[in-house]
Amino acid sequence: MAACTSGVCVEVLRLTTAVVSCGFLLIVTLQVVQISGSDSDSDEWEAFFLCRQCGHEVAKATDFIRQTSTLSLHQRNDTILGVDNVLLQRFKNPQGREFELITTRHADVNKAEQAFTEHSWFPAYSWRIATCPHCKAHLGWSFEPQGHKDGIEDDEEIFYGLILAHLIHQEYADSLLMMPKMYGR
Ligand SMILES: [Zn+2]
Repeated sequence: MAACTSGVCVEVLRLTTAVVSCGFLLIVTLQVVQISGSDSDSDEWEAFFLCRQCGHEVAKATDFIRQTSTLSLHQRNDTILGVDNVLLQRFKNPQGREFELITTRHADVNKAEQAFTEHSWFPAYSWRIATCPHCKAHLGWSFEPQGHKDGIEDDEEIFYGLILAHLIHQEYADSLLMMPKMYGR
């Protein structure tokens, strides 16, 4: 029954070789895609702003939002942590001090217990002082709709205005050889 003429056997052999070659190429291709894919993922997820004073991870590049205010003295767009068109706004407080803020949806900061409505840079929002949970440095403010109830940490209406000068890019921090890795998450 096994009528294997030499012609058929050669064809089967060629077919087998082709299938094995394709399979090998496919595996190699998949591995290359997997390696490059994991690289880009880690780049995205490791893009952090750190507390300039202690290196604590404060905000991710994926948390940046464009929360514009008519009360800002100046607005500009910049590329920050690889993100294009990040909105930076300059504000002045009643004491005359100026701060350039970047707005984020989330931030790993401690929020003061007391919320204030007067002198808010974002109308209809009250503000709280936000400090570094590690070294207590002043990093900016959290903003919440006036009359907001406490205890809803993930409320999408809360945002943060972080002081650019009090933060440091993770890439820059990594380039400082003596920078201790105090932050760990
Ligand atoms: Zn800190």
